[in-house]
Amino acid sequence: MLAEYAVRVERTRGRRYPELPHPYRNDYQRDRDRIIHARAFRRLENKTQVFTDRISDHFRNRLTHTIEVAQISRTIAEQLQLNVDLTETLALVHDIGHPPFGHAGEKALDEAMKQHGLFFDHNLHALRIVDNFEMRYAAFRGLNLTFEVREGIIKHSRDYPPDKYPQLTEYLLDQRPPLEAQLIDLTDEIAYNTADLDDGYEAEILTVQLIRDGVPAFARAHAEAEKKYPDASEKLKFNEALKLFFNRLVTDLIENTRTRIKDSGVKSLEEVRNYPERLVAFSPVIDVERRQAKEFLYANLYFSPDLKADKVRAEEIVGELFHFWMEHPEELPSSYQSKAESEPLARIVCDYIAGMTDNFILAQQKRYIR
Ligand code: MG
Repeated sequence: MLAEYAVRVERTRGRRYPELPHPYRNDYQRDRDRIIHARAFRRLENKTQVFTDRISDHFRNRLTHTIEVAQISRTIAEQLQLNVDLTETLALVHDIGHPPFGHAGEKALDEAMKQHGLFFDHNLHALRIVDNFEMRYAAFRGLNLTFEVREGIIKHSRDYPPDKYPQLTEYLLDQRPPLEAQLIDLTDEIAYNTADLDDGYEAEILTVQLIRDGVPAFARAHAEAEKKYPDASEKLKFNEALKLFFNRLVTDLIENTRTRIKDSGVKSLEEVRNYPERLVAFSPVIDVERRQAKEFLYANLYFSPDLKADKVRAEEIVGELFHFWMEHPEELPSSYQSKAESEPLARIVCDYIAGMTDNFILAQQKRYIR
């Protein structure tokens, strides 16, 4: 049962290269399957989420993070009667454009590009991957995904001003994305805010006390867990507290979005698109809690002394290799060398680096730098 404001697969704007319908999978299910079978998707397994030198195999990488986002997104989409297939597809593809070494890699790549008057943006890069770089079909380049999936790749997490991004005009930049795409930005946050507390605790960078002092919602949940399970181990109390916090975020996102949709009077996808703001949102109270958790993680985990060395090294490696290939384009794989005839060399070097896994870029550094 789909809500009246959900995306309907039978009304898709379709694919760039028309294809015959599949006998038993709808278009969004096919897109989901194309993404799961893409090489760029498999590479997520070896891309940093938070920890580059993972001292434990239990820490998230970008693939396990992606699976968690898909799980949360499906649950919420079902509750809101949104299109679950489209939502799942958008969740699975949402981080496919991330370079190696997480945000440090992204920052270094963007800085290197700025020296050539260009920039790096992981959503735009994701679109290049699915439209261009994946070579699986004899009939066309890329994965030939439906419009709604390509639109969601671009628009799920931010608005791109139409005057600054004329190359994205076809994605209706003056309109809001469908609710299925709006959802992904916030389920992404639920996933990493809770998972990074978990991994940070497991890494012994964060302690229960530190989190309690910095994240009031976690402190309340932890007090509740302690009361309910006074004899449980510290780790299990921590898990219970994190679960309560997690459920609080998910439940609020469902209920508050439902209320906002109702209050807006929006009754169709067209009205979702033309509504002046995004309708998927946390309530103001929970939004404060979400922000507190995020700020806590920035201050105590992402920019902690423990992760600083990894970050600095990651930025150096990306910067050095970028510079190396700019000076020695003959050392690029031949397929990239030929692309440099039609696009700026910096863009080609950027594409090459952005596609790498952590292991692959480390091997390149050994080979070319030292
Ligand atoms: Mg993500």
